[in-house]
Amino acid sequence: MSIKENLQKIKNQIGDRACLVAVSKTKPNEDLIEAYDAGQRIFGENKVQELVAKYESLPKDIEWHMIGHMQSNKVKYIAPFVALIHGVDSIKLLKTINKEGVKCNRNIPCLLQMHIAEEDTKFGFSKEEIFESINEQLLADLSHVTIKGLMGMATYTDDENQIRKEFASLKSLFLELKEGIFATNKSFNEISMGMSGDFLLAIEEGSTMVRVGSSIFGARNYLK
Ligand SMILES: *Cc1c(COP(=O)(O)O)cnc(C)c1O
Repeated sequence: MSIKENLQKIKNQIGDRACLVAVSKTKPNEDLIEAYDAGQRIFGENKVQELVAKYESLPKDIEWHMIGHMQSNKVKYIAPFVALIHGVDSIKLLKTINKEGVKCNRNIPCLLQMHIAEEDTKFGFSKEEIFESINEQLLADLSHVTIKGLMGMATYTDDENQIRKEFASLKSLFLELKEGIFATNKSFNEISMGMSGDFLLAIEEGSTMVRVGSSIFGARNYLK
């Protein structure tokens, strides 16, 4: 199937239940244009350099999401235009994003990445870290960051129950924070979870934003 057909199929499966981030990492511009021409406007990349290069050469009404692990020293390259940074996994990074937001006079939307997988290879905050480190003072200091919700990745496994359990844990933490420290933050609404293999499960467990790559653009040449 073509990119356009894949996209249509996935959009039909999602309906209006979640927002679709088309993960275009490693794919050439012509593939993104094909998705763009089919109506897709939100694209996700996981490398700063590639994100900037694509931003510079593709239409300006694209919303660029940074979905990968982010190093503090690279925030400055995407701060002027990035629509959402999904993988914020340290307070240091949050503070750097805020500093760059001040410099370019922009409020930068972010998601806090939570470690929900059983594997210890994935990045993210633990629940304990979030409760320890996110407080009123920190949130007040983050004048140029909007924390829009949480992001997480499930364990890479065929065990559907395991995946469901992990997604459900992210949803329940989201609710706890939304009623707690983020109660006055009207923007705290997003749960970014679900990829090609598990986005329907993720939606059933409360995802508002799915990040789908290979099911739209085909397999990537190398594992990421
Ligand atoms: C690559 C990637 C995706 C998309 O993965 P697919 O399995 O190709 O859909 C989603 N989220 C993150 C963080 C990724 O790095």
